[in-house]
Amino acid sequence: MPIQKKRPRRRCTRCQRPLSHCLCTHIPSISNRTRVLVLQHPDEAKHPLNTARLAVLGLEHAELLVGEHFPQLDGIVASIGRALLLFPEKDEGRPRPELQSRPRSSEAEWPSAFAEGGPALLIVPDGTWRKARKIVQLNPVLNTLPRLGLPPGEPSEYRVRKASEPAAVSTIEAISRSLSMLEPGQDFQRLLAPFKVLVQQQIEAMGEEVYERNYSLRTAKQISGTSLPTSMPPSAAQE
Ligand SMILES: [Zn+2]
Repeated sequence: MPIQKKRPRRRCTRCQRPLSHCLCTHIPSISNRTRVLVLQHPDEAKHPLNTARLAVLGLEHAELLVGEHFPQLDGIVASIGRALLLFPEKDEGRPRPELQSRPRSSEAEWPSAFAEGGPALLIVPDGTWRKARKIVQLNPVLNTLPRLGLPPGEPSEYRVRKASEPAAVSTIEAISRSLSMLEPGQDFQRLLAPFKVLVQQQIEAMGEEVYERNYSLRTAKQISGTSLPTSMPPSAAQE
């Protein structure tokens, strides 16, 4: 049989998933008070499991910038004033900022630390931990901001992508949990709807891959000529 070359799959211009797996019908439109700004590392922008993009599409007040150094950030932070960085408290031996230095009795205390009822802007570095750290290092204004480190929550749905730290959650889950803390009156669980479908799609794709390996040995030569699967089997994901 002749070897057929795979054509690149056409993608949805909005969610950027292959058209056959478009997630747009699952993306909500949630009215968030705290504006969200995702600073996405270029490597993450290319990743097929780009959950930050889904988060931004599901929020009325959110935007995504791709890069490592963001010269416009100083201006944004200065103009908004009340910005919060979504990043772990204990990192780089940096002294704890004002917000983390006070004992927390409840999540509700977070917004009260800001004069006008909560932060106006949540800044979210997006990438592997190493890349996210690099973004923080390259943009010194981020080190001046109080940080929001997520408390342990529900286990992550993020079963299909490697996590370099045990407590790691996907970016969309981190944004959903943060906004739930900052705006307890709003239902940010809904933000995860397209993500849950995405996870399911990836698991199904993995299943097909295993199927191919085990049951289609006769076509193995054809398969070896094609590109690698976009998802990793759980064993490889542990690294
Ligand atoms: Zn779509």
